[in-house]
Amino acid sequence: MKADIVVVGAGPAGLAAALKAWDEGVRDIYLIERDIELGGILPQCIHDGFGTVTFKRTLTGPEYAQRYIDMLAKTGVKIKLNTMVLSITPEKKVIAVNSEDGMFEIDAKALILATGCRERTRFQSMILGDRPAGIFTAGTAQRFVNIEGYLPGKKIVIVGSGDVGLIMARRLTLEGAEVEGVYEIMPYPGGLNRNVIQCLQDYNIPLHLSHTVVSIKGKNRVEGVTVAKVDEQMKPIKGTELFVPCDTVILAVGLIPETELLKKSNIQMDAATGGPVVNEWMETSVSGVFACGNVVHVHDLVDYVTESAETAGRNAAKHVKRGLQRREKPIKIEHGRNVRYTVPQLLSGKPLEEKIKFYLRVKKPERKVEVKALAGGDEVFSRKFRIVRPSEMIRLEIPAENLRKAEERCQLRFEIGGEQA
Ligand SMILES: Cc1cc2nc3c(=O)[nH]c(=O)nc-3n(C[C@H](O)[C@H](O)[C@H](O)COP(=O)(O)OP(=O)(O)OC[C@H]3O[C@@H](n4cnc5c(N)ncnc54)[C@H](O)[C@@H]3O)c2cc1C
Repeated sequence: MKADIVVVGAGPAGLAAALKAWDEGVRDIYLIERDIELGGILPQCIHDGFGTVTFKRTLTGPEYAQRYIDMLAKTGVKIKLNTMVLSITPEKKVIAVNSEDGMFEIDAKALILATGCRERTRFQSMILGDRPAGIFTAGTAQRFVNIEGYLPGKKIVIVGSGDVGLIMARRLTLEGAEVEGVYEIMPYPGGLNRNVIQCLQDYNIPLHLSHTVVSIKGKNRVEGVTVAKVDEQMKPIKGTELFVPCDTVILAVGLIPETELLKKSNIQMDAATGGPVVNEWMETSVSGVFACGNVVHVHDLVDYVTESAETAGRNAAKHVKRGLQRREKPIKIEHGRNVRYTVPQLLSGKPLEEKIKFYLRVKKPERKVEVKALAGGDEVFSRKFRIVRPSEMIRLEIPAENLRKAEERCQLRFEIGGEQA
């Protein structure tokens, strides 16, 4: 088959990217999803908190997804559910399989990868001990409770304080389980502050910072975990071990971009984000291959997933219709003090668009903060924040006129100055 644009993954990113490309006038678009329904992770996120930026309302995950599904239904985007994309090539060939068409190929003019992220497992976080039943990732537990209708356990320990774990602490409590506590190895929470308050503090669920689970005990089913305090190097401190009886361990120890398709096609990756290197158009190192949403970097809010997807959809459409105007040498973005990563990692447009959106994450929490953009040592933009946290993305919009010096020097550097929080 042939197509103008193929979008892989129909979570909020894929839905918004396909919709935007259609709105920009591209008519031959495929949206391919391996699941049996549209929406990605959102159908299982039945709590509210979605859409606060985009719709100025707090929607549930399914409500947020449905708005895009309804808009998409009014377009001619061709949707293939139950279809797994097996590989993509730098020539923008998509190889996919489903039970109706068998294995098939689509030659596209542009690709948009919106494959989301996956959860880190017990073995990726090196938790030792027995291998009994009763150990779940937070997303799996969420699916069991919210979609399949099963309670994964009655006495629960949560490892890690990522947003999914915090939300599950509240959800499981509401369903009648007893959540013993959340154990976080870092000295600060991994999830959004609002989730710490609304999901733990409001339900009197203890959050143990600078603690980890060192081992899991259980013959058939989990019987308990040994927890310990950690030092500054995050090593368990001898003598602080405590056995906590429980029947279920839930892991909320981080999300990783789902990049299998990208890796196989030799697209340049960023070790800091775990996703592909992209420019301001959300285009990867291969011309015409775009990426958006959680496959690029793990977002805090779905609204910014949608924003990145609209950028990818708009520019994929431009690529198909008239090509994108590039500068000879891209502007490289560098990271200074307390900057863990930035997206985009480079700027390619000539001329630059009127305003460029940047997403940053910090390495450690700080207060009374000034985020600065520098070109060759000269400050070209700055913005103050009361507090910054690793769990919360910083979003900046910098006007192109501020970036003239960066254009001349082909370099832009971000630095974050603040006081210890
Ligand atoms: C538990 C939880 C709670 C959250 N709470 C909030 C909240 O309160 N507020 C908020 O704003 N955000 C929240 N988020 C974040 C938000 O849901 C995500 O940022 C968003 O869903 C990411 O969108 P995505 O489209 O990039 O990825 P996903 O939603 O993960 O979608 C990716 C899609 O790609 C498909 N796919 C992957 N590989 C292939 C392949 N090879 N072939 C075909 N299809 C493929 C997958 O099946 C999936 O449907 C939450 C997330 C989780 C997990």
